[in-house]
Amino acid sequence: MDSEQLLYEVNDLNHLFRESASVETLLNKAVEMVADRTHSAVCSVYLYDPAERMLTLRATRGLNPESVGKVRLRLGQGLTGLALQEMKTVCEKDASRNPNYKFFPGLFEERFDAFLALPIARGISKMGVLVLQRSTGESFTDADIKALETVASQLAHIIENAQFLMGMHEPRSEHPEVQTTAPAQLKFVRGRVASEGFAYAPAMVIDKQKSLSFLLHREFEGRYSIEQFREAVTRTTDQLEELQERVENKLSDAASLIFAAHLMILKDKAFLDKIVRRIETGVNPPVAVAEVSGEFIQTFLASDNAYMREKVNDIEDLAIRLVNNLISAGEDTQVYRGHVVVTRDLFPSDLLKLSSEEASAVVLVGGGVTSHIAILARSLAMPMVIADSFDLLGLPDGTPILVDAQIGNVFVDPDDNVLEKFHSQQKVRLSLEEQKKLIQPQTRTSDGVPVQLLANINLLTDAVLAAELQCNGVGLYRTEFPFIVRTTFPSEAEQFVIYSRLVQSMPGKPVTFRTLDAGGDKILSYYHDVQEQNPAMGMRSIRFSLQNRPIFREQVRAILRAGADADLRIMFPMISSIDEFCQAREVVLESIDGLSRQGIAHNGKPKLGMMVELPSVVELIEDFAAEAEFFSIGTNDFIQFMLGVDRTNDSVADFYLPHHPSVLRALSRIVRAANGSKREVSVCGDMAHEPQYVPFLLGIGVRTLSVDPAYLLRTQQTIAGMSIRQAEAMAQAMLAQSRTREIETILGEPGTMV
Ligand code: PEP
Ligand code: MG
Repeated sequence: MDSEQLLYEVNDLNHLFRESASVETLLNKAVEMVADRTHSAVCSVYLYDPAERMLTLRATRGLNPESVGKVRLRLGQGLTGLALQEMKTVCEKDASRNPNYKFFPGLFEERFDAFLALPIARGISKMGVLVLQRSTGESFTDADIKALETVASQLAHIIENAQFLMGMHEPRSEHPEVQTTAPAQLKFVRGRVASEGFAYAPAMVIDKQKSLSFLLHREFEGRYSIEQFREAVTRTTDQLEELQERVENKLSDAASLIFAAHLMILKDKAFLDKIVRRIETGVNPPVAVAEVSGEFIQTFLASDNAYMREKVNDIEDLAIRLVNNLISAGEDTQVYRGHVVVTRDLFPSDLLKLSSEEASAVVLVGGGVTSHIAILARSLAMPMVIADSFDLLGLPDGTPILVDAQIGNVFVDPDDNVLEKFHSQQKVRLSLEEQKKLIQPQTRTSDGVPVQLLANINLLTDAVLAAELQCNGVGLYRTEFPFIVRTTFPSEAEQFVIYSRLVQSMPGKPVTFRTLDAGGDKILSYYHDVQEQNPAMGMRSIRFSLQNRPIFREQVRAILRAGADADLRIMFPMISSIDEFCQAREVVLESIDGLSRQGIAHNGKPKLGMMVELPSVVELIEDFAAEAEFFSIGTNDFIQFMLGVDRTNDSVADFYLPHHPSVLRALSRIVRAANGSKREVSVCGDMAHEPQYVPFLLGIGVRTLSVDPAYLLRTQQTIAGMSIRQAEAMAQAMLAQSRTREIETILGEPGTMV
């Protein structure tokens, strides 16, 4: 059994969705598929109820079907309960001989003595157990176990969605009042750039309150039949399956099952029955869809759970698609294609959906943007502006909008002058082909000093671009993206597949993995239920990893395995003390040891470094240099914490000053200490790609910069346009000042730079 092959096949849950009319059928199909693919006589799924601490058999292939729903085990009871209690795989050649074995009369499992129970878990929360059984003598091999551990983690996706749907049928409480927003006379809004680019396209406003109201109050001219409703369901399913396939081809690392909830709802018998019943009482089908969807939306809007709230967008999106398919049969119902989407809420999965549907740009209204949304938008090449004007949400759909996400302007129904300027700016932008022709394999200053130009990678698509633009390696791979956009923690095997692809895209070049930087504003909706008062300073980043060792270990193992033959570097985010660095390093060393003992190919000597993002590192930098093999300065967070300014809060953006004298002097001190100890130091925060700060960084001794692929050429050209002597003079002049205004004067003097 080839474990990677199995992973891909299981990942493609479209196979399972097809023809599944209910959650039960879906689980049944899952056990059928796993039993077939793994040549097992029996495959069963037990689901866990944490309130009762009980496991119940929910689906089986091979055991007595009548026992479904009846066979129940306490946590820790039998081999199955034990696997979940201890969160470890239990493998037995001869299960009935194990003292923990629990015999159930009428289950007919006595013939299948080779036994494998794998916990199904979402991170650290227990969800259920996947049990496989074969005839005595056909026991499970190590390769089987590895592949099936992946399957168990994939099943967590399905089960998560199944539970979500079951939750949807709980009785609802009250219906909050629906607000509608009045359209306003708007011409121009000044916003903030989140992801550069331009777009000129009709607006499409997505506002939960507004579209819910729109759905509920919309008048439908035509009368539709129940058959037309059923056809619309089929058409919507086909479209969503196609979208899912497309997005998985394009963004295999990040986009796993982003349309899963949509498809699950479409297969959900209770949802469809509710609509059908209303239609049968004489309600027009689009109205019935709107009403039932509205009820579901209200239930979930009221939830405290971030994961549930994220699903609200999915239900709303699905309802719009379903209604559109009903009333405009046969027409193109790619709702967002070629539109500027104006919205106040945006989850990473929404952004992936918008990108897969080829929306032209996004305007995010009213702040609330997390930095990873902006970073993801850049990786998806989706122009995005953050604007404060709520009036934008009142724009009628179809209003022409020009988004200049180069400087953050939004023009509503722009006149010819503005459009002309926009078109001429468009012409100046270089295509990828043009960039490829201009970029050089080695970056040098005008006096020939070499500078390493590395790439920041968020999604695997970035790596393709970075490789084409001949970057010198990967300076920062933000491993959190596959975690952020999924509905559960990716397994070691899943991570291994993603990481291997990254490594393979950079043959012979250094690849720097940053371990999971979750928390803060990088929310894992399936984990971060508890609202922290101060998430940026809460249970995040390396603290999170050290507190959740099994998750940390899985990630480190996946990195070590993927980087077996690579110039592998691993760095830890948000390190605040030497002790923390040593603890994190210990986890890597233990993982290396574990992999060696298991005889699994891996990299036994990765370089181990750290991000410099916290002011507490500065005073200890010489001591850190004795431990860490390299440093990477994350200026985005470093500035935030040095100055106490939230990097995601628009209203304090003016206080977020990379050129604050304390920031500059601290950076200079870090680089001096690193160079003095012969430790490589790079800068991977946004300062590294901002042309006005590049001379300062080179002037204080930085010789390695890591930037988004889109900035590789521009940064190379900035570096080539100055000598080290000039850069040093500029840096010295800046360091001598204690007033921001003086530093701004130096930055603003064009003659100083070149
Ligand atoms: C930084 O803080 O500068 C950095 C590169 O990390 P991130 O932007 O992912 O927080
Ligand atoms: Mg950071």
